[in-house]
Amino acid sequence: MPYGRQSINDRDVEAVVEALKSGWLTTGPQVEHFERDLASFCGTVHAVVVNSGTAALHAAAHAINIQEGDEVIVPAITFAATSNAVLYAGGTPVFADVNPDTLLIDLSDAESKVTPRTKAICAVDYAGQPCDYQGLRELADRHGLRLIADACHSIGASYRGRMSGSLADVSTFSFHPVKGITTGEGGALVTSHPEIAQSARQFRNHGIDTDHRLRARQGAHVYDQETLGFNYRLSDIQCALGRTQLARLPSFVYRRAELADRYHEALVTVDGVSPLTVLSDRVHAWHLYAVLLETERLGISRDEAFSRLRDMNIGVNVHYRPVYQHTYYRKRLGDLDGICPAAEAAYDRLLTLPLFPDMTAEDLDDVVYSLTRLGDPR
Ligand SMILES: *Cc1c(COP(=O)(O)O)cnc(C)c1O
Repeated sequence: MPYGRQSINDRDVEAVVEALKSGWLTTGPQVEHFERDLASFCGTVHAVVVNSGTAALHAAAHAINIQEGDEVIVPAITFAATSNAVLYAGGTPVFADVNPDTLLIDLSDAESKVTPRTKAICAVDYAGQPCDYQGLRELADRHGLRLIADACHSIGASYRGRMSGSLADVSTFSFHPVKGITTGEGGALVTSHPEIAQSARQFRNHGIDTDHRLRARQGAHVYDQETLGFNYRLSDIQCALGRTQLARLPSFVYRRAELADRYHEALVTVDGVSPLTVLSDRVHAWHLYAVLLETERLGISRDEAFSRLRDMNIGVNVHYRPVYQHTYYRKRLGDLDGICPAAEAAYDRLLTLPLFPDMTAEDLDDVVYSLTRLGDPR
C-alpha cells in the first residue's frame, strides 16, 4: 500500500483519448479551458498552467520579480522545491520555524526574520491545511512584502470561506500523481493580479510575447522575446486530464476527509501516535495524513518505526526534513542547525500514513493495526 496514489476513471481516460484525436496536442484549446476551470474553481481571475509545481513556483518567483539580493521567507518544513524556486530566481531563502502542532509557518518567527532585503513570504499549506492567511496578509502589509502560497498540498481546501488559490498574491499547485488532482506531471499558478499572470504566461513560453496559436489566429510569423523564459508549457493531453480530474476534486477531498476522520477516531486508542492539530476556521484538503510519534514512549526511533511499517507492507513516508539540512543547502548557506528548533524536533517524530481517495476502510484499519504493534518487542 503506497502513501499516496492517483485515481483515474473511464472519463479521465476518454478525455485524454479525445485530446489525442483533436488535432491539438499542445498550446491548443484544452489549455485555455483548463485555465478557465481552475480560475473559476479557486475564485481567481487568472490561472496559468505549467508542466510542474516546481515550474509554477519558479514562474511565481519570476513574476513577483525576485532578484539577486532579495530574501524570501519560507518554512523550514517543506519540499525543497519551495526554496529551490527562490534560488532559481537569484534570491535567498530565509527559513522560518513552524508551529509544532500544525507544522504551518510560525508567524512570529517569520516576522522576526524580516530584514530590509526581504521581498516576499512564501507560506506552505502543509498536508493540505491552509495557513493563517489573515495573519500572513497583515504581516506582509506591515513590511511591504509579496505573499506567495505554495498550495501544492491544498487544492480544494479553503480558509474562512475562501478557496485555496485565492488567499495570496499568487498561489501554486502541483498535479503530480500523489497530489490532489493529477495530469501526470503538471502544475499551475493562480492569481488575480493581471501583471503576475501575464509575466508567468510569458515565462512559461521562453519569454516570448505571443504563443503559436495566437500567431496562427493572427496570421503572423513575427514574435518578440522580451525576457529570458523557459519551456514550461503543459500539453493539451494533460490539460484534458486536468479538467476531468478537477471535476472530481470535490469528491476526492470528501473521501480524503472521511478517511482522515476514521484515522482520528482510531488513533485515539493508539499509544504514542498523535495526529497534527486541525484548525476550525478552514477546510483541510488532506493531501497527507501526518502523525507525530512519541518515540520515547514507543521505545523506538522514527526511522525504526518507518522500517517496521514498511516491513509490514505499509507505505509510510516522511514529509519533510528541514530543507536547510540537505547537503546542497549546507554547502550554499552554511550550517544552520538550530535555527528552527520546532521543525527539527518535529522531523525526528514525523511520519506520513497512507491516504488516497481509492483507499478502503479495510486498508486504513490495516495501517492502524500495524501502528498498534509498533511498541511490541521485535
Ligand atoms: C509537490 C510539491 C512541489 C513540487 O511539485 P512538482 O509538481 O513535483 O514539481 C512543491 N512544493 C510542495 C510543498 C510540494 O508538495
